Amino acid sequence: MNILEKTEIIKNHELTALENLEQYNKEIDRKNSSLNIYLETDYDQARETAVNIDNRIKNGESVGKLAGMVIGVKSNINVEDFHITAASRTLENYLGSYNATVVNRIKEEDGIIIGVTNMDEFAAGSSTETSYFGPTENPAAPGRIPGGSSGGSAAAVAAQICDLSIGSDTGGSIRNPASHCGVMGYKPTYGAVSRQGLLDLAMSLDQIGPFASDAGGIALMLDIMAGFDDRECTTINWELPQFTELTSDAPDSLKGMRLGVVKQFLEVSDEAIVNIIEDSINKMEEAGAEVVELSFDYVDLCLPTYYLINYVEFFSATRKYDGRKYGYKIEDVCGEEVLRRIHIGSYISQKEYSGKYYKKALQARSLIRKEITRLLKDVDSIVGPTVPKLPHKLGTSLEPMEMYAYDTLTVIANLAGIPAASMKAGEVNGIPVGLQFQAKPLEDGKIVQLMAAYEALD
Ligand code: GLN
Repeated sequence: MNILEKTEIIKNHELTALENLEQYNKEIDRKNSSLNIYLETDYDQARETAVNIDNRIKNGESVGKLAGMVIGVKSNINVEDFHITAASRTLENYLGSYNATVVNRIKEEDGIIIGVTNMDEFAAGSSTETSYFGPTENPAAPGRIPGGSSGGSAAAVAAQICDLSIGSDTGGSIRNPASHCGVMGYKPTYGAVSRQGLLDLAMSLDQIGPFASDAGGIALMLDIMAGFDDRECTTINWELPQFTELTSDAPDSLKGMRLGVVKQFLEVSDEAIVNIIEDSINKMEEAGAEVVELSFDYVDLCLPTYYLINYVEFFSATRKYDGRKYGYKIEDVCGEEVLRRIHIGSYISQKEYSGKYYKKALQARSLIRKEITRLLKDVDSIVGPTVPKLPHKLGTSLEPMEMYAYDTLTVIANLAGIPAASMKAGEVNGIPVGLQFQAKPLEDGKIVQLMAAYEALD
């Protein structure tokens, strides 16, 4: 049963919201201690919400679009009364005192927030191993990392311990774990979804987005999450598509779609991954899409540009964690990667008067944005691998640059502010491989259509 069917069944009272919740609760009890996906759950509060929804359905009153859906939230997005730690000791005791805009919207549509999920500390990572609360295990590839930084939210969908979840993506943190866990993950156009209530990693790159096991679930969440927010100055006042309706013409929507394949994206990826992606592209071509080869000359420029900007913005974002208002002083308690970013970010900021690094990174960013915009002019979407390599085994020690290499193909969308998503293309020895779609700013609907179409081909 897919998510849209499930919401109907709950509204018809064939399945109650409480039954749905209890089933997940049982699964959480069975799986969470070994997989380490939820950092905190609140069953009692969730139960109260479920009972209230069921009563309203019984009385013939109207309920929201997410009525009875059980939802996990990354622990850097504020939810009232949950510990919003960003998986850092810094905020170990910080209790969310308000709901982020997206959380309010989910609650207004009768979504049931069951808990907050594990992640890399302050979202600075690609493996969920830097969490102060220990790593999450990949439910789809036992013994391996789930990817990150939203590893818990992706794993929650993969382990079937929620219907839907949300995460944040600054350089790939939704798409990367979606790819490694074999689920769908969506990073909206910058400004399409409100970031109000998100603990920022790098504010010019961060976006909140959904995870789901099917395209209907992604569309449903976007219908609810996207749109202007007068509490957040970077949101765009745009004409919203009806995302769920866009999924209804699958797989016919592939007919006539122009898909761009960037040869350098394949060149930097492992061969086994390339084989799977090429198969997916062939399938879409057979279903009526037109495939064109493209060339992007700046692949090597993307990671240095991204990390430089990330360090500087993160350094600035962490200045509020000085031990006076929230939690501990960050430098006193944080992990190695967070400290590295603070130190380098501080150094670059001090040197900025000479325009040495940051100014150059901003110039490189506009070059990358221009080039990807030029490529997108000619096609409806750029398709390719989400991550160039397979997830490593838990406990393997990686150099920072090896870890950053996971992000090679995802940071471009953040630097350019364009929408991008990942869905499962296949497996290499049982390990999921993700297919990435990228599109022009505010053409989020096209990606949703493509996801629904590709899903319908299987
Ligand atoms: N892995 C990237 C980083 O460490 C992306 C993180 C993210 O998207 N939050 O910055």
